[in-house]
Amino acid sequence: RYQSLAYNRVLEIHKQHLSPVLTAYFSEPLLLHQGHMEWLFDYEGNRYLDFFSGIVTVSVGHCHPKVNAVAQKQLGRLWHTSAVFFHPPIHEYAEKLSALLPEPLKHSAENQVIFLMNSGSEANDLAMLMARAHSNNTDIISFRGAYHGCSPYTLGLTNVGFHKMELPSGMGCQSTMCPDVFCGPWGGSHCRDSPVQTIRKCSCAPDCCQAKDQYIEQFKDTLNTSVAKSIAGFFAEPIQGVNGVVQYPKGFLKEAFELVRERGGVCIADEVQTGFGRLGSHFWGFQTHGVLPDIVTMAKGIGNGFPMAAVVTTPEIAKSLAKRLLHFNTFGGNPIACAIGSSVLEVIKEENLQENSQEVGTYMLLKFAKLRDEFEIVGDVRGKGLMIGIEMVKDKTSRQPLPREEVNQIHQDCKRMGLLIGRGGTFSQTFRIAPSMCITKPEVDFAVEVFRSAFIQHMESQDK
Ligand code: PMP
Repeated sequence: RYQSLAYNRVLEIHKQHLSPVLTAYFSEPLLLHQGHMEWLFDYEGNRYLDFFSGIVTVSVGHCHPKVNAVAQKQLGRLWHTSAVFFHPPIHEYAEKLSALLPEPLKHSAENQVIFLMNSGSEANDLAMLMARAHSNNTDIISFRGAYHGCSPYTLGLTNVGFHKMELPSGMGCQSTMCPDVFCGPWGGSHCRDSPVQTIRKCSCAPDCCQAKDQYIEQFKDTLNTSVAKSIAGFFAEPIQGVNGVVQYPKGFLKEAFELVRERGGVCIADEVQTGFGRLGSHFWGFQTHGVLPDIVTMAKGIGNGFPMAAVVTTPEIAKSLAKRLLHFNTFGGNPIACAIGSSVLEVIKEENLQENSQEVGTYMLLKFAKLRDEFEIVGDVRGKGLMIGIEMVKDKTSRQPLPREEVNQIHQDCKRMGLLIGRGGTFSQTFRIAPSMCITKPEVDFAVEVFRSAFIQHMESQDK
């Protein structure tokens, strides 16, 4: 146990001094004192299996020994230089990151293509600026349900109801229908790139799902009616995180990217949640769609929880930005962040964490699919690798969201049994599972049994 502020005092200070928009997940908020790899420990020493990793952020495990050692070493050497003075960790990191990207996002003899930042919102802010500076156009499209940040600029791209305010934000941003094959009007059993398909039957043959074509028609409609003839760009998460791990029909992004480029726009992949091997089959989420973006934004897992982010683009787009402005950021490329970033990349490789995401993620998806077949309130199980969504419904026929209080109760019960998971979706109806990439199959077995108990308790409470 670790002695610090008492639980009640923490609640008091939170209420008195911290932002009122910071709300805790649980009615009895969790007070954490320590973390080790996939485990978290609260102030009383209770242990929790962390299946949300600080909102899809702690990629290689809490306080990973190698990452900690690297951070401590750099702390003793040099904290800060600012980008105007050089220091090797920045350059070492840039080289390591480049090696993981396909051409033409790799490097250029003439100019930089990697911009180091501190948060996902900042990275997407810069990507918006780049798209506009390069295309000389203004309009940018993003999906309904997308989350790309909370800065005034990125709020225009974020289309999640509870983040929208009655204030102008993100001028020139337009939303388009999210091709959600479970909740949307079209979709079926062969649509998505996941070991688990929807329970909705597809009316067409396995290889010719018409849902993709229907959603592409909607996308064209947005291009024809809601934006100028020429556009600046299109933002997409390879799998939507905040919206409840929503996957698009196979082939959709490829066609959408072509349509955007026909209109002069650039395509931006927001890899803040999906990057760094989490999806298992590929290092980057965009690769799972067979597309090559013009700009890639990264944050969260890039620093295993240390504030760090990056934007990578093509030499041409980088040049368009450089022609117009000096883009400066005091902490972007901070030596401690970069040293940590390098060690995160090394750990992912040395410990085969991408392969682990694929193997353990697929194992978990198939186990959860069995729970879906067992329980009427589990409407959908989806995702790839270690980015998984479990959508709770009133019943499988209506696919209506399970009332929030009932989902809350299941969520609290999982916490009580030692499992931490996230929430997402318009009605907060989806459980989000995205643990550190080091988790093991026995831990998955534990999580599945916790869910099973929570679902049984839910059924029993409804029978009373
Ligand atoms: N993009 C995505 C896909 C995200 O999930 C988030 C954070 N939830 C962001 C951008 C914004 O990142 P940050 O909170 O670091 O600003």
